[in-house]
Amino acid sequence: MGLIVQKFGGSSVANAERVMNVAQIVTETYRQGNDVIVVVSAQGDTTDDLIDKAHEINEKPSLREMDMLLTSGEQISVALLSMAIEKLGCPAVSLLGWQAGFNTTSAYGTARIKSIKSDRIKAELDRHNIVVVAGFQGINKYDDLTTLGRGGSDTSAVAIAAALHADRCQIFTDVEGVFTADPRKVENAQKLQEITYDEMLELATLGAQVLNNRSVEMAKKYNVEIEVLSSLKRVPGTIVKEVVKMEKMLVRGVTKDTDVARISVTNIPNIPGIAFKLFSKLAQKKINVDIILQSVGRDGTKDITFTVSKDNAQSAVDALQDFLDIDKSNITCDTNIAKISVVGAGMESHPGTASKMFEALFESNINIEMISTSEIKISVLINAEEADRAVSAVHRAFFPVS
Ligand code: ADP
Ligand code: ASP
Ligand code: MG
Repeated sequence: MGLIVQKFGGSSVANAERVMNVAQIVTETYRQGNDVIVVVSAQGDTTDDLIDKAHEINEKPSLREMDMLLTSGEQISVALLSMAIEKLGCPAVSLLGWQAGFNTTSAYGTARIKSIKSDRIKAELDRHNIVVVAGFQGINKYDDLTTLGRGGSDTSAVAIAAALHADRCQIFTDVEGVFTADPRKVENAQKLQEITYDEMLELATLGAQVLNNRSVEMAKKYNVEIEVLSSLKRVPGTIVKEVVKMEKMLVRGVTKDTDVARISVTNIPNIPGIAFKLFSKLAQKKINVDIILQSVGRDGTKDITFTVSKDNAQSAVDALQDFLDIDKSNITCDTNIAKISVVGAGMESHPGTASKMFEALFESNINIEMISTSEIKISVLINAEEADRAVSAVHRAFFPVS
């Protein structure tokens, strides 16, 4: 007996049959004598469909109105799931983010949870209700609805688990856990029994969509152990926690991220302070820069190349054009690229990981355009068309088909 948080993603509640399946899981947990808080996402592709609807009307809608629209997806799910739970004979109450006490920063579309005022949730649990909370949303200081960024329901679930000191936080999805690569795309991807917060954070940040990276950040901060598991197949999933049993596994996973744009600025004067000024300009605009490369150009000039997310590409180019007194033709932006990464804490103590990755790419005749490394990851930029082939080749090198 304890307090259990269970989160179900969009595909787990995509239609009536799936909603009933989730109600089955939730009511079983409740009937075992647990207090249950359920966090749900919008059904299937609802969020994408709502975004398309908005763009049919206005290509650049205000972020406030987008959040007003997008939060409606989760409102449908919580009501339907509560009805399904009632049908199975258990008491349930649905709550929107604001009713559940989710206070966020004011940034529409990318809000962060500041606090959870959990009185209402606690009161509903005291009334023996299963509490069904809308993920991905909260309210800001202007009493406006906000959303937490795509995939944000994972963060809602971890935040509730942290705030209420839940005994378990289960993230149910459409695959059986965290794999060494996307199991839908890569043959022979293997399910991991356990993974550390740090490795999971890298995987999530570098493109493994299975958990949202902010949710992992929060889980690490508040030491919330997460179990990722399937809502469709009752088998053990993957545990995400601080320390895991050392397995003989050099690399935990291979990821692909296509949300990358590469911006190159050539023929900049080779004088001190340019890089500082350039990147502080981008920081002022709150643009996150990832891989950076500086090289010597012709005639006492230098070239700086860096990557940003696709969303930020145009504003980065605009900021540079306003700031640098150079010809526009010197600034180029390429969005046809992908970042392929290998992640694993084991590589710190094992030389040769990078060369193994590069060899796999070379053997598949894939050209590396940029490289970046940290203690637990190696990332390369390649042409987007080669991305899936590259992930498979690199995965095969580290996890040979037996
Ligand atoms: P949900 O709707 O449940 O939040 P998501 O679509 O956000 O689910 O995340 C689950 C998907 O993540 C899987 O269907 C899978 O294709 C993808 N995925 C990418 N990389 C991985 C990985 N390393 N392990 C497991 N799933 C992954
Ligand atoms: N419905 C939101 C999205 O599609 C939040 C989530 O699924 O976690 O991004
Ligand atoms: Mg998700």
